[in-house]
Amino acid sequence: MRQQQRICLSCRNFSLQDTTTGVCKVVKGLAVYPVKAIEDTCDQWRDCGQQYFIRTGWIKGRLAQEKGDTVATETGLIC
Ligand code: SF4
Repeated sequence: MRQQQRICLSCRNFSLQDTTTGVCKVVKGLAVYPVKAIEDTCDQWRDCGQQYFIRTGWIKGRLAQEKGDTVATETGLIC
């Protein structure tokens, strides 16, 4: 099995907000969570498992939608 890249996009502590950024929730209970790029990383990374593929599918679908395309992703048809 392919080694997962240790980036925010594949981290359990990350919450995706748009196609390039999200917030890091490694410290719980903050009023405002720090914004991270999807390619950022740190030593507190934890594998989010299948959530990674759901996120990449959502990003692919959103980018296709912005271009006016219809695309089938792991999470469904986006048009
Ligand atoms: S900054 Fe670290 S802990 Fe936070 S989402 Fe990114 S890799 Fe995960």
